[in-house]
Amino acid sequence: MILLNPGPVNLSERVRAAMVSPDLCHREPEFSQLQSTIRKRLLEVYGLTSEAWAPVLFSGSGTAAVEAMISSLVPDASKLLIIENGVYGERMTRMAETHGIAHDTLHHGWGEEIDAPALEIRLASGDISHVAVVHHETTTGRLNDLGKIGSVCRDAGAELLVDAVSSFGAEQLDFRYITACAATANKCLHGAPGASFVLTRRGVLESAQPRCVYLDLVRSCQSQDSGSTSFTPAIPCFHALAEALAEHAEQGGVTARRKQYEALAEQTRKGLEQLGVVPWHDNHASSCVLRAYALPRKITYKALHAGLKERGFIIYAGQGGLSEQLFRISTMGAITEEDMQDLVKAFSEALCGA
Ligand SMILES: *Cc1c(COP(=O)(O)O)cnc(C)c1O
Repeated sequence: MILLNPGPVNLSERVRAAMVSPDLCHREPEFSQLQSTIRKRLLEVYGLTSEAWAPVLFSGSGTAAVEAMISSLVPDASKLLIIENGVYGERMTRMAETHGIAHDTLHHGWGEEIDAPALEIRLASGDISHVAVVHHETTTGRLNDLGKIGSVCRDAGAELLVDAVSSFGAEQLDFRYITACAATANKCLHGAPGASFVLTRRGVLESAQPRCVYLDLVRSCQSQDSGSTSFTPAIPCFHALAEALAEHAEQGGVTARRKQYEALAEQTRKGLEQLGVVPWHDNHASSCVLRAYALPRKITYKALHAGLKERGFIIYAGQGGLSEQLFRISTMGAITEEDMQDLVKAFSEALCGA
């Protein structure tokens, strides 16, 4: 089955094979070695130094890492502004509510471009210390302009917390503007679901205020720095992530992965446009990771999904109110040009049958 949903992704054979490594106790030096290999390789993805940055691993999906970041890095005397333009921004607001963090939102409709002047005006009032934003809003495939948002935050002296779950490893991330970002193993890094991580500036850990036991960023960082781990990790997923990171680097890192996704996405767009299926966003607003397409009038999502699944492809529905209007195709994972040729063929058959 070819997975065109935005994670988990199809694994390469070498990553799949890494998951069946020998059984391992997490209190033994072999685990410590595995963990430090992953942490070192995570820093290398964007060329960060271990003096300034700490990678902190969690066993859990991407949301665990986002919640560790949000619930740990905003001290009580601070106020968080959450920028919303899709499901994942709104999820961070729910986290702030749940953990009793003082917050406000800068709301946009799903898929709307973030209003940078409005952000600047909001930050000028001086009460906001931290801003949280989603880099790639997977809800619609919109890639938010982190450079623009980051420079507004920096000028206002606000710390920027980024949900980079569906962009880390494939899109450029300018870490000059970033205080911390959260991401996962099983999206652009092509690992298995079950491991996620936060990359945080070490300097902010001293004033951090964790509000969870399991997702305590500060304690987790301390124990991982000392070669240990707070809880039982998802060891097979860690093996897969270490291998996926090696593969990512060997294949040319972020730039090469971006190119690969972009080429597959463009190939798909051209093929689908010939069948009358058109993109939801202008190309320039979309990430390289995922494209949203308007659902053709003559077919329901359910019928389209079933027709494609029968032919070996999983596409992804629009979320919430968008489910009747769009569907999504991600080009992450160990998939090829040939797979996407077959997809276009499968589409044409599924649409003809409608
Ligand atoms: C996938 C995703 C998440 C996390 O989802 P999980 O199901 O917890 O892995 C968070 N933010 C964004 C932008 C995502 O695409």
